[in-house]
Amino acid sequence: MADKCAEQFAGIIGSLKSEVVLMNGLSVNLHLMMAAFYKPTVHRHKVLIEAGPFPSDEYIVESQIRWHGLYAPEESIVRVTPGGEEGCQTIATDHLLRTIDEHGEETALLLLPGVQYYTGQHFDIAAITAYAKARGITVGWDLAHAVGNVELKLHEWDVDFAVWCNYKYISGSPGSVGGAFVHEKHCAVTRGDCLGSSAIYHPRLSGWYGNATDTRFDWTERRFEPIDSASGFQVSNPSAVDLAILSAALSVFDRQPMSAIQSKSLALTGYAEHLLGKILRDAKADKDTAAPLFTFITPRNAWERGAQLSLQFADGETLDSILKVFEEEGIVCDGNKPNYMRLAPSALYTRFEDIWMFAAAMRKALGLTELPS
Ligand SMILES: *Cc1c(COP(=O)(O)O)cnc(C)c1O
Repeated sequence: MADKCAEQFAGIIGSLKSEVVLMNGLSVNLHLMMAAFYKPTVHRHKVLIEAGPFPSDEYIVESQIRWHGLYAPEESIVRVTPGGEEGCQTIATDHLLRTIDEHGEETALLLLPGVQYYTGQHFDIAAITAYAKARGITVGWDLAHAVGNVELKLHEWDVDFAVWCNYKYISGSPGSVGGAFVHEKHCAVTRGDCLGSSAIYHPRLSGWYGNATDTRFDWTERRFEPIDSASGFQVSNPSAVDLAILSAALSVFDRQPMSAIQSKSLALTGYAEHLLGKILRDAKADKDTAAPLFTFITPRNAWERGAQLSLQFADGETLDSILKVFEEEGIVCDGNKPNYMRLAPSALYTRFEDIWMFAAAMRKALGLTELPS
């Protein structure tokens, strides 16, 4: 079942089937990947992340650094700030590459999100990976908000490892088993000979389920020889129930390529942006104030985002009144205190009509005239 899911994933993340493994949760997988790929030395010990990552990623990076015996983690973390105009929350690729230059020789690992959970920024994974790798940096991506959302070519882009969860755009159900990608070149195993020399492979935290299947149940030798694929990074045996649910969710992805899903979601997101733009203009005319009702945090360029628009409201009270009307209209919304709202029109189950209804509810909450349906 795990193999079947891995096969279904190859097209979604642009990898070989042998480079995918479904196991654990995202955070656990990130720990396992960092255990295998973060190898700090005196001169090269830094981890480059974005400022304000998803909290789990921050805790993982910090604890990994400490766990490696570096007790002042802030000295080993480079946080890339937006660095652009005042108020801009996204990170320009040029600025990111300059930050890599600045810390290049001291950086052991670059760990960024494919799509940033808060701003919705879709990073140029190919360009950033190539730039960092040319400077001897190991490259890992957290694809929690990118998998099933945007097209990926992890193998071709020469990414070292990636991790993701399957309960966001994949719809694998809450707490669904997570995923990891390990590039083929890190999966190679030279097996030990009959005289007892041990196998040669990329070091990792090992468990019995990562052992080659032909000797997994051979417990006389007790010599770990990993499977020569991403499955060799497994520790425990996965839950069959979890994999059955995941495989069903993936069967929907089997029906069309990611490029088609992404095209649809970009059109849906563009439509939402259009209706929200009209709300901004109408609210401004109505209230006659200089300050806009909200600003878009997500890049306005469609190719720098996936299925997401994050809005920052000028005041929290307006957002509260909108969320109240949403509740009455049966709309469940991701509104974060104090003034942040995030829309994610996932292409597989969001209709243009849903977006229109969303905008109509927002207009109602703001006392704006109804649009002709
Ligand atoms: C959702 C998300 C997680 C969640 O981690 P789990 O281990 O699956 O609970 C971690 N990192 C990022 C960036 C996320 O968006």
